[in-house]
Amino acid sequence: MKKIHMVDVVSEYNKYSEQINERIQNVLNSGVYIQGSEVQQLEQELSVFLNSKYTITCGNGTDALCLALMALDLKQGDEVILPPFTFVSTIEAVCLLGLKPVFVDVQCDSFLLDPELIEQKISNNTKVILPVHLFGQCCNMKHIKLIAKKYNLFIIEDAAQSIGAQCFYNKDAKNMKCSGTIGDIGITSFYPSKNLGCYGDGGAVFTQNKKLAHRIRLLANHGQEKKYVHKIVGFNSRLDALQATILRFKLSILNKSNKKRRKVAAEYNHILKSIEWITTPVESACSDHVYHQYSIILSSNIDRDKFQKFLLNAGIPTMIYYPIPLHQQQPYKHFSNEPLPVSEMLSQHIISLPMHPELEIEQIHFICDVIKKYI
Ligand SMILES: *Cc1c(COP(=O)(O)O)cnc(C)c1O
Repeated sequence: MKKIHMVDVVSEYNKYSEQINERIQNVLNSGVYIQGSEVQQLEQELSVFLNSKYTITCGNGTDALCLALMALDLKQGDEVILPPFTFVSTIEAVCLLGLKPVFVDVQCDSFLLDPELIEQKISNNTKVILPVHLFGQCCNMKHIKLIAKKYNLFIIEDAAQSIGAQCFYNKDAKNMKCSGTIGDIGITSFYPSKNLGCYGDGGAVFTQNKKLAHRIRLLANHGQEKKYVHKIVGFNSRLDALQATILRFKLSILNKSNKKRRKVAAEYNHILKSIEWITTPVESACSDHVYHQYSIILSSNIDRDKFQKFLLNAGIPTMIYYPIPLHQQQPYKHFSNEPLPVSEMLSQHIISLPMHPELEIEQIHFICDVIKKYI
Protein backbone atom coordinates (compact mmCIF):
# COMPACT_ATOMS: atom_id res chain seq x y z
CA MET A 1 0.00 0.00 0.00
CA LYS A 2 1.18 3.53 -0.82
CA LYS A 3 2.17 5.87 2.03
CA ILE A 4 -0.87 7.79 3.32
CA HIS A 5 -0.76 11.58 3.10
CA MET A 6 -3.11 14.20 4.54
CA VAL A 7 -3.09 15.80 1.09
CA ASP A 8 -1.16 14.37 -1.84
CA VAL A 9 -0.29 17.02 -4.39
CA VAL A 10 2.75 15.06 -5.58
CA SER A 11 0.78 11.97 -6.68
CA GLU A 12 -1.61 14.25 -8.53
CA TYR A 13 1.29 16.03 -10.24
CA ASN A 14 2.89 12.73 -11.23
CA LYS A 15 -0.36 11.55 -12.75
CA TYR A 16 -0.67 14.62 -14.98
CA SER A 17 2.99 15.67 -15.24
CA GLU A 18 3.16 15.40 -19.02
CA GLN A 19 0.36 17.89 -19.62
CA ILE A 20 1.47 20.19 -16.81
CA ASN A 21 5.14 20.21 -17.81
CA GLU A 22 4.23 21.09 -21.38
CA ARG A 23 2.14 24.02 -20.18
CA ILE A 24 4.93 25.26 -17.93
CA GLN A 25 7.44 24.98 -20.77
CA ASN A 26 5.18 27.02 -23.05
CA VAL A 27 4.91 29.83 -20.49
CA LEU A 28 8.67 29.84 -19.95
CA ASN A 29 9.17 30.13 -23.71
CA SER A 30 6.58 32.92 -24.01
CA GLY A 31 8.45 35.44 -21.86
CA VAL A 32 5.17 36.65 -20.30
CA TYR A 33 5.43 35.74 -16.64
CA ILE A 34 3.00 38.06 -14.83
CA GLN A 35 -0.64 38.33 -15.95
CA GLY A 36 -0.87 38.10 -19.76
CA SER A 37 -3.03 35.80 -21.84
CA GLU A 38 -2.77 32.72 -19.59
CA VAL A 39 -4.17 34.75 -16.70
CA GLN A 40 -6.88 36.31 -18.88
CA GLN A 41 -7.94 32.91 -20.17
CA LEU A 42 -8.02 31.47 -16.67
CA GLU A 43 -10.26 34.35 -15.53
CA GLN A 44 -12.62 33.71 -18.43
CA GLU A 45 -12.68 29.99 -17.80
CA LEU A 46 -13.38 30.51 -14.09
CA SER A 47 -16.22 32.89 -14.96
CA VAL A 48 -17.74 30.28 -17.26
CA PHE A 49 -17.21 27.44 -14.77
CA LEU A 50 -18.81 29.35 -11.89
CA ASN A 51 -21.31 31.25 -14.00
CA SER A 52 -19.87 34.46 -12.54
CA LYS A 53 -19.87 37.72 -14.50
CA TYR A 54 -16.45 38.90 -13.32
CA THR A 55 -13.36 37.09 -12.05
CA ILE A 56 -10.22 38.95 -10.97
CA THR A 57 -7.23 36.80 -10.04
CA CYS A 58 -4.74 38.00 -7.44
CA GLY A 59 -1.73 36.99 -5.35
CA ASN A 60 -3.42 34.78 -2.73
CA GLY A 61 -6.68 34.26 -0.84
CA THR A 62 -5.80 36.65 1.97
CA ASP A 63 -5.20 39.42 -0.56
CA ALA A 64 -8.50 38.49 -2.19
CA LEU A 65 -10.29 39.12 1.12
CA CYS A 66 -8.48 42.45 1.53
CA LEU A 67 -9.37 43.46 -2.04
CA ALA A 68 -13.03 42.58 -1.46
CA LEU A 69 -13.21 44.66 1.72
CA MET A 70 -11.25 47.56 0.15
CA ALA A 71 -13.59 47.64 -2.82
CA LEU A 72 -16.62 48.33 -0.61
CA ASP A 73 -15.34 51.71 0.58
CA LEU A 74 -15.94 51.08 4.27
CA LYS A 75 -14.76 53.38 7.04
CA GLN A 76 -12.68 52.65 10.13
CA GLY A 77 -14.70 50.92 12.81
CA ASP A 78 -17.36 49.54 10.48
CA GLU A 79 -18.37 46.09 11.64
CA VAL A 80 -17.99 42.79 9.83
CA ILE A 81 -19.85 39.70 11.03
CA LEU A 82 -17.82 36.50 10.75
CA PRO A 83 -17.49 33.06 12.35
CA PRO A 84 -14.76 32.38 14.95
CA PHE A 85 -14.31 28.85 13.63
CA THR A 86 -12.28 29.44 10.44
CA PHE A 87 -8.77 29.95 9.11
CA VAL A 88 -7.13 33.15 10.36
CA SER A 89 -7.11 34.95 6.98
CA THR A 90 -10.75 35.79 7.31
CA ILE A 91 -10.21 38.00 10.35
CA GLU A 92 -6.77 39.27 9.34
CA ALA A 93 -8.18 41.08 6.34
CA VAL A 94 -10.88 42.70 8.50
CA CYS A 95 -8.41 43.91 11.12
CA LEU A 96 -5.72 45.03 8.67
CA LEU A 97 -8.26 47.40 7.13
CA GLY A 98 -9.23 48.92 10.48
CA LEU A 99 -12.64 47.27 10.52
CA LYS A 100 -14.14 45.60 13.56
CA PRO A 101 -14.78 41.84 13.57
CA VAL A 102 -18.00 40.74 15.28
CA PHE A 103 -18.18 37.02 16.01
CA VAL A 104 -21.25 34.91 15.36
CA ASP A 105 -21.01 31.26 16.39
CA VAL A 106 -21.34 28.29 14.02
CA GLN A 107 -23.83 25.42 13.87
CA CYS A 108 -22.55 22.28 15.55
CA ASP A 109 -23.60 19.87 12.80
CA SER A 110 -22.43 21.79 9.72
CA PHE A 111 -19.62 23.88 11.36
CA LEU A 112 -21.01 26.84 9.36
CA LEU A 113 -22.09 30.35 10.41
CA ASP A 114 -25.43 30.06 12.24
CA PRO A 115 -27.92 32.41 10.53
CA GLU A 116 -30.22 32.31 13.56
CA LEU A 117 -27.59 34.12 15.63
CA ILE A 118 -26.77 36.91 13.17
CA GLU A 119 -29.55 39.44 13.79
CA GLN A 120 -28.79 39.87 17.49
CA LYS A 121 -25.24 40.98 16.56
CA ILE A 122 -26.26 43.62 14.04
CA SER A 123 -25.65 47.24 15.10
CA ASN A 124 -25.77 50.61 13.36
CA ASN A 125 -22.14 50.07 12.39
CA THR A 126 -22.63 46.66 10.79
CA LYS A 127 -21.76 46.80 7.08
CA VAL A 128 -20.75 43.30 5.99
CA ILE A 129 -21.61 39.66 6.65
CA LEU A 130 -18.64 37.41 5.83
CA PRO A 131 -19.79 33.77 5.75
CA VAL A 132 -17.07 31.12 5.36
CA HIS A 133 -18.01 28.02 3.37
CA LEU A 134 -15.91 25.84 5.64
CA PHE A 135 -14.53 22.40 4.72
CA GLY A 136 -16.29 22.39 1.33
CA GLN A 137 -19.95 23.20 1.80
CA CYS A 138 -21.89 26.45 1.57
CA CYS A 139 -23.52 28.33 4.41
CA ASN A 140 -27.28 28.85 4.34
CA MET A 141 -27.03 31.68 1.81
CA LYS A 142 -30.76 31.99 1.32
CA HIS A 143 -31.21 32.91 4.96
CA ILE A 144 -28.08 35.09 5.07
CA LYS A 145 -29.21 36.98 1.95
CA LEU A 146 -32.58 37.73 3.54
CA ILE A 147 -30.86 39.22 6.59
CA ALA A 148 -28.44 41.23 4.44
CA LYS A 149 -31.34 42.63 2.46
CA LYS A 150 -33.35 43.53 5.55
CA TYR A 151 -30.46 45.50 7.11
CA ASN A 152 -28.85 46.68 3.87
CA LEU A 153 -25.56 44.84 4.39
CA PHE A 154 -22.94 43.60 1.95
CA ILE A 155 -22.08 39.91 1.74
CA ILE A 156 -18.53 38.72 1.08
CA GLU A 157 -18.31 34.94 0.73
CA ASP A 158 -15.10 33.21 1.74
CA ALA A 159 -15.12 30.31 -0.72
CA ALA A 160 -11.45 29.39 -0.22
CA GLN A 161 -12.44 25.84 0.77
CA SER A 162 -15.54 25.36 -1.38
CA ILE A 163 -14.65 26.00 -5.00
CA GLY A 164 -17.01 23.99 -7.21
CA ALA A 165 -19.65 23.51 -4.50
CA GLN A 166 -23.18 24.45 -5.48
CA CYS A 167 -25.51 26.21 -3.12
CA PHE A 168 -29.21 25.36 -3.24
CA TYR A 169 -31.41 28.40 -2.72
CA ASN A 170 -34.42 26.15 -2.44
CA LYS A 171 -35.49 22.79 -3.78
CA ASP A 172 -35.75 24.16 -7.30
CA ALA A 173 -32.54 23.16 -9.06
CA LYS A 174 -32.78 26.25 -11.27
CA ASN A 175 -31.86 28.29 -8.21
CA MET A 176 -28.55 26.59 -7.63
CA LYS A 177 -25.49 28.81 -7.69
CA CYS A 178 -21.79 28.21 -7.27
CA SER A 179 -20.20 29.16 -3.99
CA GLY A 180 -18.50 32.53 -4.30
CA THR A 181 -21.07 33.94 -6.75
CA ILE A 182 -24.01 34.50 -4.42
CA GLY A 183 -22.91 37.47 -2.32
CA ASP A 184 -21.81 40.93 -3.53
CA ILE A 185 -18.26 39.59 -3.69
CA GLY A 186 -16.78 36.10 -3.30
CA ILE A 187 -13.18 35.06 -2.90
CA THR A 188 -11.13 31.91 -3.21
CA SER A 189 -7.57 30.73 -2.66
CA PHE A 190 -5.38 28.62 -4.94
CA TYR A 191 -3.03 27.54 -2.14
CA PRO A 192 -1.61 24.13 -3.22
CA SER A 193 -3.73 22.04 -0.84
CA LYS A 194 -7.04 23.70 -1.76
CA ASN A 195 -9.49 21.84 -4.03
CA LEU A 196 -8.30 24.03 -6.91
CA GLY A 197 -4.65 24.53 -6.01
CA CYS A 198 -1.63 25.78 -7.94
CA TYR A 199 2.09 25.25 -7.24
CA GLY A 200 2.58 28.43 -5.27
CA ASP A 201 0.30 31.19 -4.00
CA GLY A 202 -2.75 32.44 -5.86
CA GLY A 203 -6.26 33.71 -5.31
CA ALA A 204 -9.32 35.18 -7.02
CA VAL A 205 -12.20 37.55 -6.43
CA PHE A 206 -15.66 37.05 -7.99
CA THR A 207 -18.43 39.58 -8.40
CA GLN A 208 -21.53 40.15 -10.49
CA ASN A 209 -21.20 43.94 -10.20
CA LYS A 210 -19.34 45.78 -12.96
CA LYS A 211 -18.29 48.75 -10.82
CA LEU A 212 -16.94 46.54 -8.05
CA ALA A 213 -15.09 44.41 -10.61
CA HIS A 214 -13.44 47.49 -12.10
CA ARG A 215 -12.42 48.78 -8.69
CA ILE A 216 -11.00 45.41 -7.58
CA ARG A 217 -8.97 45.16 -10.78
CA LEU A 218 -7.47 48.61 -10.18
CA LEU A 219 -6.77 47.93 -6.50
CA ALA A 220 -4.88 44.73 -7.32
CA ASN A 221 -2.63 46.43 -9.85
CA HIS A 222 -1.34 49.73 -8.42
CA GLY A 223 -4.60 51.56 -9.10
CA GLN A 224 -3.71 51.57 -12.78
CA GLU A 225 -6.28 51.97 -15.49
CA LYS A 226 -3.56 52.18 -18.11
CA LYS A 227 0.12 51.63 -17.54
CA TYR A 228 1.48 54.52 -15.41
CA VAL A 229 -1.95 56.17 -15.09
CA HIS A 230 -2.97 55.69 -11.45
CA LYS A 231 -6.64 56.36 -10.62
CA ILE A 232 -6.76 55.21 -6.99
CA VAL A 233 -4.35 54.03 -4.30
CA GLY A 234 -3.74 50.38 -5.02
CA PHE A 235 -1.14 47.75 -4.33
CA ASN A 236 0.37 44.76 -6.11
CA SER A 237 -1.46 41.47 -5.92
CA ARG A 238 -1.32 39.62 -9.20
CA LEU A 239 -1.31 36.02 -10.36
CA ASP A 240 1.65 34.87 -12.40
CA ALA A 241 1.37 33.09 -15.72
CA LEU A 242 2.94 29.82 -14.52
CA GLN A 243 0.31 29.46 -11.80
CA ALA A 244 -2.42 30.45 -14.25
CA THR A 245 -1.50 27.78 -16.78
CA ILE A 246 -1.34 25.13 -14.04
CA LEU A 247 -4.73 26.29 -12.75
CA ARG A 248 -6.27 26.13 -16.23
CA PHE A 249 -5.35 22.47 -16.35
CA LYS A 250 -6.48 21.85 -12.76
CA LEU A 251 -9.80 23.59 -13.47
CA SER A 252 -10.40 21.16 -16.33
CA ILE A 253 -10.28 18.25 -13.84
CA LEU A 254 -11.91 20.02 -10.86
CA ASN A 255 -15.35 18.43 -11.22
CA LYS A 256 -13.72 15.04 -11.52
CA SER A 257 -11.50 15.56 -8.47
CA ASN A 258 -14.36 16.99 -6.37
CA LYS A 259 -16.40 13.93 -7.31
CA LYS A 260 -13.53 11.73 -6.18
CA ARG A 261 -13.44 13.57 -2.84
CA ARG A 262 -17.16 12.90 -2.41
CA LYS A 263 -16.53 9.20 -3.08
CA VAL A 264 -13.79 9.11 -0.45
CA ALA A 265 -16.16 10.79 2.04
CA ALA A 266 -18.97 8.37 1.24
CA GLU A 267 -16.68 5.43 1.93
CA TYR A 268 -15.50 6.95 5.24
CA ASN A 269 -19.14 7.68 6.21
CA HIS A 270 -20.25 4.20 5.33
CA ILE A 271 -17.70 2.58 7.65
CA LEU A 272 -17.38 5.15 10.44
CA LYS A 273 -21.04 5.94 11.03
CA SER A 274 -21.47 2.74 13.07
CA ILE A 275 -18.79 3.76 15.60
CA GLU A 276 -20.69 5.32 18.48
CA TRP A 277 -17.86 7.60 19.72
CA ILE A 278 -17.52 9.26 16.30
CA THR A 279 -19.86 11.80 14.68
CA THR A 280 -19.35 11.78 10.93
CA PRO A 281 -19.80 15.07 9.01
CA VAL A 282 -23.36 16.12 8.21
CA GLU A 283 -24.18 17.25 4.69
CA SER A 284 -26.15 20.47 4.72
CA ALA A 285 -29.50 20.69 2.96
CA CYS A 286 -28.41 24.07 1.53
CA SER A 287 -25.39 22.88 -0.39
CA ASP A 288 -23.57 20.01 -1.96
CA HIS A 289 -20.23 19.17 -0.38
CA VAL A 290 -16.82 19.17 -2.09
CA TYR A 291 -14.99 17.85 1.01
CA HIS A 292 -12.01 20.14 1.26
CA GLN A 293 -11.72 18.42 4.63
CA TYR A 294 -13.28 15.31 6.08
CA SER A 295 -13.69 16.20 9.76
CA ILE A 296 -15.18 14.04 12.49
CA ILE A 297 -16.16 14.88 16.07
CA LEU A 298 -14.93 12.62 18.85
CA SER A 299 -17.06 11.98 21.95
CA SER A 300 -15.94 14.01 24.94
CA ASN A 301 -14.58 10.90 26.68
CA ILE A 302 -12.02 10.33 23.89
CA ASP A 303 -8.55 11.83 24.43
CA ARG A 304 -7.90 13.42 21.05
CA ASP A 305 -4.11 13.69 21.50
CA LYS A 306 -3.88 9.98 22.29
CA PHE A 307 -6.13 9.09 19.36
CA GLN A 308 -4.05 11.24 17.01
CA LYS A 309 -0.79 9.60 18.22
CA PHE A 310 -2.33 6.15 17.85
CA LEU A 311 -3.17 6.86 14.21
CA LEU A 312 0.22 8.41 13.52
CA ASN A 313 1.98 5.33 14.90
CA ALA A 314 0.07 3.30 12.31
CA GLY A 315 1.24 5.69 9.56
CA ILE A 316 -1.95 7.76 9.38
CA PRO A 317 -1.53 11.54 9.49
CA THR A 318 -4.41 13.72 10.77
CA MET A 319 -4.84 17.43 11.37
CA ILE A 320 -6.78 19.62 13.79
CA TYR A 321 -8.73 22.32 11.96
CA TYR A 322 -8.88 24.47 14.07
CA PRO A 323 -7.38 23.94 17.52
CA ILE A 324 -8.04 27.48 18.83
CA PRO A 325 -11.05 29.52 17.65
CA LEU A 326 -10.26 33.09 16.57
CA HIS A 327 -11.91 34.75 19.57
CA GLN A 328 -9.42 32.96 21.83
CA GLN A 329 -6.35 33.94 19.80
CA GLN A 330 -4.11 36.65 21.26
CA PRO A 331 -4.56 39.41 18.64
CA TYR A 332 -8.35 38.97 18.42
CA LYS A 333 -9.37 38.17 22.02
CA HIS A 334 -10.40 41.73 22.81
CA PHE A 335 -13.08 41.67 20.11
CA SER A 336 -15.10 39.14 22.07
CA ASN A 337 -16.60 39.37 25.53
CA GLU A 338 -18.70 36.27 25.61
CA PRO A 339 -18.29 32.53 25.13
CA LEU A 340 -18.94 31.05 21.70
CA PRO A 341 -19.75 27.55 22.90
CA VAL A 342 -20.06 25.67 19.62
CA SER A 343 -16.75 26.91 18.21
CA GLU A 344 -15.07 26.18 21.54
CA MET A 345 -16.50 22.65 21.67
CA LEU A 346 -15.54 21.93 18.04
CA SER A 347 -11.96 23.13 18.53
CA GLN A 348 -11.62 20.61 21.41
CA HIS A 349 -13.13 17.56 19.74
CA ILE A 350 -12.76 17.86 15.98
CA ILE A 351 -10.15 15.96 13.94
CA SER A 352 -9.66 15.80 10.17
CA LEU A 353 -8.73 12.56 8.41
CA PRO A 354 -6.66 12.26 5.21
CA MET A 355 -8.70 13.65 2.30
CA HIS A 356 -7.62 14.12 -1.29
CA PRO A 357 -8.65 12.85 -4.74
CA GLU A 358 -5.78 10.36 -4.97
CA LEU A 359 -6.73 8.47 -1.79
CA GLU A 360 -7.25 4.81 -2.71
CA ILE A 361 -10.00 2.53 -1.44
CA GLU A 362 -7.41 0.22 0.14
CA GLN A 363 -5.99 3.18 2.08
CA ILE A 364 -9.45 4.29 3.26
CA HIS A 365 -10.20 0.79 4.50
CA PHE A 366 -6.84 0.62 6.29
CA ILE A 367 -7.52 3.99 8.01
CA CYS A 368 -10.97 2.85 9.13
CA ASP A 369 -9.65 -0.51 10.37
CA VAL A 370 -7.06 1.24 12.52
CA ILE A 371 -9.71 3.65 13.88
CA LYS A 372 -11.95 0.70 14.79
CA LYS A 373 -9.10 -0.84 16.77
CA TYR A 374 -8.83 2.23 19.02
CA ILE A 375 -10.58 1.47 22.37
C1 LIG B 1 -6.84 29.16 2.67
C2 LIG B 1 -7.87 30.07 3.18
C3 LIG B 1 -7.82 31.48 2.96
C4 LIG B 1 -6.71 32.24 2.31
O1 LIG B 1 -5.74 31.59 1.73
P1 LIG B 1 -4.30 32.05 1.25
O2 LIG B 1 -3.40 31.08 1.93
O3 LIG B 1 -4.04 33.46 1.64
O4 LIG B 1 -4.33 31.88 -0.22
C5 LIG B 1 -8.88 32.24 3.41
N1 LIG B 1 -9.92 31.70 4.05
C6 LIG B 1 -10.00 30.37 4.29
C7 LIG B 1 -11.21 29.84 4.98
C8 LIG B 1 -8.98 29.52 3.88
O5 LIG B 1 -9.07 28.22 4.15
